[in-house]
Amino acid sequence: MMRILWNSFKKGILSRKFEKVSLPPGYEKTGGELHSLIKKKFGRSLHIREVAAGSCGACESEIISAGNPVYDIQRFGVDFVASPRHADALLVTGPVPRNMELALKRTYEAMPGPKFVVTCGDCALDGGAFRDSYYCAGDIGKIVPVAAHIPGCPPRPQAIVEALLLLIGRIN
Ligand code: SF4
Repeated sequence: MMRILWNSFKKGILSRKFEKVSLPPGYEKTGGELHSLIKKKFGRSLHIREVAAGSCGACESEIISAGNPVYDIQRFGVDFVASPRHADALLVTGPVPRNMELALKRTYEAMPGPKFVVTCGDCALDGGAFRDSYYCAGDIGKIVPVAAHIPGCPPRPQAIVEALLLLIGRIN
């Protein structure tokens, strides 16, 4: 115990005060529009189930950033859920390896309708850098119907918000 206290005393306080971080220009405005549109079309929040289908993890890192206290996508009415049964949208990252094909299909089937699929990151669109690999299942559109794509490798939180705005604007 004394050793721990002594080490803490020697190191000092490692955490620091949260400094105000400036958001990308236009982020608040786009987010505000997204929020109004979600309220108008869904009458509540938009619930998203995310599936990492062979992703390198960087797309997830940006999706997690979108939910951090800085970008705080939840305030725009976007919520990430743990079960496909609670989801309106399926967000897919990664080049979809063959061993994820069935899991992806089943996740989609478990979602209540109306539902839509959004691919996130260049890999999810067409395999990206892994396109010709033997382990990729191929065109994701043949596994689940894709409604929209978020470009980037990885896409930033702002790109995620912008793509959702475009997509929800198209939904009747
Ligand atoms: S699109 Fe880029 S960042 Fe996203 S999973 Fe593929 S390689 Fe990783």
